[in-house]
Amino acid sequence: MARPAYESWVREILRCPVGGHELVDVVDDAGEPALQCAVDCGGPGQRRRYPIKDGIPVLLADDAVLVQA
Ligand SMILES: [Zn+2]
Repeated sequence: MARPAYESWVREILRCPVGGHELVDVVDDAGEPALQCAVDCGGPGQRRRYPIKDGIPVLLADDAVLVQA
């Protein structure tokens, strides 16, 4: 099992910058790890997904992609 890229307490305080939503760990279509809103964000059934670049979560609304939940 891979070592986490960051400490768990850091992970726990991360929130969606748009709505303050909790984030869940997902894998995007390219197989890369990402963080995704745990609730609808951006419309019914739509959730923002934030990339993790070089092990650093990029929690910027401009860099997020909207995906179907
Ligand atoms: Zn959100």
